[in-house]
Amino acid sequence: MMNTIEILGVPISNITMNGAVEKVSEFMKSDGLHPVYTPNPEIVMLAKGNKAFLEVIKKADLVVPDGIGVVIASKLQKGERLPERVAGYDLVQNTMKRAVKEGYKYYFFGSKPGIAEEAAQKMRETYPGIQIVGTRDGYFKKEDEPAIIEDINASGANILLVALGAPKQEMWIEENKHLLPNVRVAIGVGGSLDGMAG
Ligand code: UDP
Repeated sequence: MMNTIEILGVPISNITMNGAVEKVSEFMKSDGLHPVYTPNPEIVMLAKGNKAFLEVIKKADLVVPDGIGVVIASKLQKGERLPERVAGYDLVQNTMKRAVKEGYKYYFFGSKPGIAEEAAQKMRETYPGIQIVGTRDGYFKKEDEPAIIEDINASGANILLVALGAPKQEMWIEENKHLLPNVRVAIGVGGSLDGMAG
């Protein structure tokens, strides 16, 4: 990850909202799966005390400050400051505004049964023509995972929203990224599908 500012030892990308939307667009055009995480202060604290989680965050291509608390923390320490809050929910909405033009195909994975599909319906109304090519709830057993991976791959999705809560969603992305050859960007979105479903 390039150009980061550490908050309690957790690297956060030194980037604006517009910069983050552009980064996602670049990732969508390049090879491999690019993890994008969106920690709020609670999640920064969690990563500070959980080495495995912190290591996973360090492997991300983009880590945006979801909470204003993360931005404020950067102002209270020496060195460079984070330019602004980049909420995960808003970042996703801003990528959706260019989804049709750029050919993004979304898969919504996570939240309680029915929520991902409801979120997909709402987003189809908000962004006419948007391709949301699959959904799956976030309550599964280990043995269900191969079928979930297969469904994501068969859908043709190139951008995956993972809403399993932290650190589960980040660990899941890291563990499975090598099994998702068509996915260019996987974003850990926390409660965003619930938000989109309304
Ligand atoms: N969730 C899930 N599977 C789980 C645990 C949680 O799909 O095993 C979902 C939950 O329904 C909610 C989201 O993950 O939609 C967690 O949202 P939260 O705002 O707690 O996310 P965080 O702030 O932890 O990233």
